[in-house]
Amino acid sequence: MVNQLYGPDPNVAENAGWQSDQPRMGFFTDTSVCIGCKACEVACKEWNGVPDDGFNLLGSSYDNTGALGASTWRHVAFVESKGDEGVRWLMESDVCKHCTHAACLDVCPTGSLFRTEFGTVVVQDDICNGCGYCVPACPFGVIDRRKGEPDTKNVGLAQKCTLCYDRIGEGMTPACAQACPTESIQFGNLDELRARADARVATLHDRGVPEARLYGHDPNDGIGGAGSVFLLLDEPEVYGLPPDPVVATRDLPAMWKKAGLAALSFAVAAVGVFVGRQP
Ligand code: SF4
Ligand code: SF4
Repeated sequence: MVNQLYGPDPNVAENAGWQSDQPRMGFFTDTSVCIGCKACEVACKEWNGVPDDGFNLLGSSYDNTGALGASTWRHVAFVESKGDEGVRWLMESDVCKHCTHAACLDVCPTGSLFRTEFGTVVVQDDICNGCGYCVPACPFGVIDRRKGEPDTKNVGLAQKCTLCYDRIGEGMTPACAQACPTESIQFGNLDELRARADARVATLHDRGVPEARLYGHDPNDGIGGAGSVFLLLDEPEVYGLPPDPVVATRDLPAMWKKAGLAALSFAVAAVGVFVGRQP
């Protein structure tokens, strides 16, 4: 039986109750070929009707959105740093990780967040009550409640990437992957993408890029592996990604064990006091 709290789960959709032979679908984002054009950000907004999140200039880079959020479902990070060989630019189109063990989904009290037949994680706007429990639960800071004027679409509700549930249900490619001109964002069968990611890292190592590494690729990590796998050219922290993300449910068995031991200790102490008072 598959552990529903943490660890590898090769059949996430089946374990969520779906009965079909639909393979798990996901993303492989190869940052080594990202050119920072932001076509993915624009395509996502246009297809999904995501409102603007302010036309800000951060002053620190060409990044004008700063981070993923309720109105930024794809975020192209621009990382500028100085090294021995001069200035280096790293670009990475970040997105929801569609975790194997998704904390946002686990804590949602209304069932608004659900696992689709594709193994992805989606919010249902008409069920979300805006309680915000999912927001601190996500170890990546992906999901958030939308802020804005009262007439802003879905204001107050939790919002994030749906992996274009409506498009992939019709056999189409998600808008961001469709718009990407360099194929930095690749969509497809997750097992095939993972194999492609392995091959790409091996190629880059052969070509003298030893810093190439995969992120979200290990089913034994703290979230059971991601549905969005990334190829990075530096440590995850450099891109603003957590190095060791963990789903909160991983620690539940240990917490319950400690709580049980504490309750047992109190019971023993109470019995001791009661017996000790007997004349
Ligand atoms: S990255 Fe965050 S919002 Fe996306 S599925 Fe995982 S826990 Fe949920
Ligand atoms: S999969 Fe769809 S919803 Fe998700 S980031 Fe890409 S375009 Fe946006």
